[in-house]
Amino acid sequence: MEQLLAKYAANPLQTRGRKHVESPPTGRSEFQRDRDRVIHSAAFRRLVYKTQVFVNHEGDLYRTRLTHSLEVAQIARTIARTMSLNEDLVEAISLSHDLGHTPFGHAGQDSLNTCMQNYGGFEHNIQSLRVVEVLENRYVDFKGLNLTFETREGILKHCSLKNAATLGKLGMRFIKRHQPSLEAQLANVADEIAYNNHDVDDGLRSGLINLEQLTNIPFFCEQLERVRSSYPNISKTQTNHEIVRRMINVSITDLLSTSQQMVNRIDPSSADEVRALEKPLIGFSEPFIEGQLAVKRFLSEALYRHPRVQRMTEQATEVVTALFDAFIEKYDGMPDEHAQLARQSHKETGIAGGARIVADYIAGMTDRFALQTYEEL
Ligand code: MG
Repeated sequence: MEQLLAKYAANPLQTRGRKHVESPPTGRSEFQRDRDRVIHSAAFRRLVYKTQVFVNHEGDLYRTRLTHSLEVAQIARTIARTMSLNEDLVEAISLSHDLGHTPFGHAGQDSLNTCMQNYGGFEHNIQSLRVVEVLENRYVDFKGLNLTFETREGILKHCSLKNAATLGKLGMRFIKRHQPSLEAQLANVADEIAYNNHDVDDGLRSGLINLEQLTNIPFFCEQLERVRSSYPNISKTQTNHEIVRRMINVSITDLLSTSQQMVNRIDPSSADEVRALEKPLIGFSEPFIEGQLAVKRFLSEALYRHPRVQRMTEQATEVVTALFDAFIEKYDGMPDEHAQLARQSHKETGIAGGARIVADYIAGMTDRFALQTYEEL
């Protein structure tokens, strides 16, 4: 059954279209087609072996980029349905938002950015876009996945002004300080809800952080007290799960009511009117933002800078840097297809062109493939 859409939702019948013109899909909408193409892409399958915080081989129960993307899609779809926004579009954006992530999470992305400093830098959002626009190689008629403007708009969450200037229509909103669709705004905030909560969950499971530390954060303390008074005899693991579950619930509830209020107040008459606004309409209440900030500060100090995570970070930097240095020195260190591309790109635009292909190759690696290639060097 067709979902009833609000007047400010993205309507697939009014899509701004695809770069390469295709006939309309039958039996599914344009955004469903985008979602399906993402799911069938190679980059999507590789997400299963890419890390969020913990390196993939640390344990089987931690989040990977794939499970993270599925959680983002779940949260975003729930909210989209309640607000009569386009579920298919938020799903397509959520599932593709991390396609450009390097191996080893943020550590990998930071070191690749450092390696690429003299060659135009490396931004994972732009890389996600590059994956769906150029790097996926599945269709005879076009490069990439040829997704609609709306999905690509959502993938490009942030981008530097310098890069925005090179991205045509998609980059325009960063220059004009305009907003993306409500669906894009929603996928972005759902990403935040997902990673804050699952990092707490993974942190607790790994033992790198503990419940007692969390009592310093008012936001958690409240939930912890409720859980402990309702269920005084449950195990530590059950307590952890119960708290994280409630935290996600509280986050979604706050986001929903705050966003719906903002939307009602502004009452945009179309998706384009949303885009022309100066501020996003999807967001949390002020007190909730404060609470979230405390969680983020805590995670950054206690988890992301934990000596064990730090060691993984150092290893990631070493691996990514070594791979980059080796391949930029000798393109033939890469498989034929990539080596050829690098030589051709180097011929056309100089060493920055070659470096970009090297960065594409490394960014596409899974954690374990990067480690294996590093050992072989
Ligand atoms: Mg994400």
